[in-house]
Amino acid sequence: MTKEYVKDVTSMEDDFAQWYTDVVTKAELIDYSSVRGSMILRPYGYAIWENIQQQLDKAIKKTGHENVYMPLFIPESLLQKEKDHIEGFAPEVAWVTHGGEEKLTERLCVRPTSEVLFAEHFKSIIHSYRDLPKLYNQWSNVVRWEKTTRPFLRTLEFLWQEGHTCHETDEDAHDETVRMLNVYAELCEEYLALPVIKGQKTEKEKFAGAKYTYTIESLMHDGKALQSGTSHHLGDGFAKAFGIEFTNREGKLQTVQQTSWGFTTRIIGAMIMVHGDNRGLVVPPKIAPTQLMIVPIAQHKEGVLDYAYNLKEQLSGSIRTGIDASDKKPGWKFNEYEMKGIPLRLEVGPRDIEQEQVVLVRRDTGEKQTVSVANLEAEIQQLLTDIQNHLYEKALKHREEKTSIAKTYDEFKETLNEKSGFIKAMWCGDQVCEDFIKDETGATSRCMPFVQQKLSDQCVCCEKDAKHLVYWAKAY
Ligand SMILES: [Zn+2]
Repeated sequence: MTKEYVKDVTSMEDDFAQWYTDVVTKAELIDYSSVRGSMILRPYGYAIWENIQQQLDKAIKKTGHENVYMPLFIPESLLQKEKDHIEGFAPEVAWVTHGGEEKLTERLCVRPTSEVLFAEHFKSIIHSYRDLPKLYNQWSNVVRWEKTTRPFLRTLEFLWQEGHTCHETDEDAHDETVRMLNVYAELCEEYLALPVIKGQKTEKEKFAGAKYTYTIESLMHDGKALQSGTSHHLGDGFAKAFGIEFTNREGKLQTVQQTSWGFTTRIIGAMIMVHGDNRGLVVPPKIAPTQLMIVPIAQHKEGVLDYAYNLKEQLSGSIRTGIDASDKKPGWKFNEYEMKGIPLRLEVGPRDIEQEQVVLVRRDTGEKQTVSVANLEAEIQQLLTDIQNHLYEKALKHREEKTSIAKTYDEFKETLNEKSGFIKAMWCGDQVCEDFIKDETGATSRCMPFVQQKLSDQCVCCEKDAKHLVYWAKAY
C-alpha cells in the first residue's frame, strides 16, 4: 500500500498515550467539545456502545431485572444522608446553584451515581418481604468532575448502566453481587474478547458506602490495568440511613440488603488499548457495527457495482455488511477501514467475478485469502469466529506474559520498572502498606483475586504475616 493513504498515527511503541488519542479521533469514535473533559460520541463510537449496551441489556433482563429511570438531580440533603458515600464523591460532584436567575434554596447535585435516589424510592415502595427482591437497572449518564481527563477512560460525563437491588438477606445480596460480576465478565470475555481477573477490592479501593466491592480487571497493551466493571454489596448502610424497612416472614421489621453494579463507556477504551495496533482500531466481530466491508475494485467497469451490491444483499441477512462504492481509491478505502478496525474486508473486481471468487482480508492478522462465492457466507462466519477467538487468545497471552510474581519489595519495584503489567504479591491486609506502595511506586492494589494462591508467608511490603494475594499494577 502506498504511503499517501496512511493516516498519521503515532506508533504505540513511541508514545502510547498519543497513539490512543490519534486512534480515538482518526477512527472517528469521538470529537472534543468546547467543555473541557467532555467528549462527543460520533456515530461510529456510539454504534459500538449501542452493540455493547444491547448485549448487556439482554443479559440484565435475562437475570430478572427491570429498567427504570431516575432524575438527573439530587438534592444536597439527600446525598449527605450516607456519610461514607458523600465523603467518597464530594470532590467530584457538580452542583447546580441557580434556576434561571434565581438562586436555589438547596443546591442540586448532578448525579455522580444514583444510590441515594434509589434508596429514597425503595423506602417508599418496599413494605413487605413480598415486595422483595427489587431488581432495578438504569441506563443513564453521570457526571464526575475529574481533574485530568482522557476520552472514554476519564471524562466529566459518561454513559453507563447502574443496577440497584434490594434483598431480604445478606446471602441473597451476596449472590446478586456475584451474579452481576459474572454477567460483566462474560460480556468482556465472550463479546469484547477481553480477558479479566475477578476479585475483591481492598477496603481502600472499595466503593464509597459499600460493604465490599467485586471487580473485573483487565490489562492494557502498555501494561497498565483498567477496572472494567464493579459490583458492590452495599449491606444495609444505605437502608439504615434511609430507613428502607420491610416486614419479614416472621412479622418483624427488618432493613433490606442492597447491591449496586455499574458498567460504562470506559470499556470502549479498554477495547481500544487491548486490541488496537499501529494501523488503528481493531474491533472484535461480535460487537463490530460493521463486520464485513465490501470494497469493489475497478468499480467503473461494467457489472462490478451490481455484483458487489448483490453480494451485500445476500450477506446482510446474517452478517453486518457495509459497502463503500464511493469514488475514492481502493487504497484509501483499505486504509480507512483498517483504521476503523472492521474485522473483515471483501475485495471484488472484474477478474474475481469471472472466476466466481472474492478476496477476504483479516484486520487482525492482515492475512488474505481467495474464497469461492459458492461457500462465501459460511467462510465469512468461520473467519469472524476465528478472529474473535484469536483476539481473545492474543490478549490472554499478552496478559500472561505481563504478569509477574514478586516475593520481596525489591523484586516488586524492579518488576514494575522493567516490565510493568500485573504483579502478584502477598499483602498483610494493612492499608499502611497499600498506601506506601502506591506513594512510592505508583502501583495500586487492583484486586484480591477470587482464586487465591500462597506465594509466600510474608507481606511484600512490611514482611509481616501475609493474609491475601493481591494483583498490583499501575492503572488508568
Ligand atoms: Zn504489610
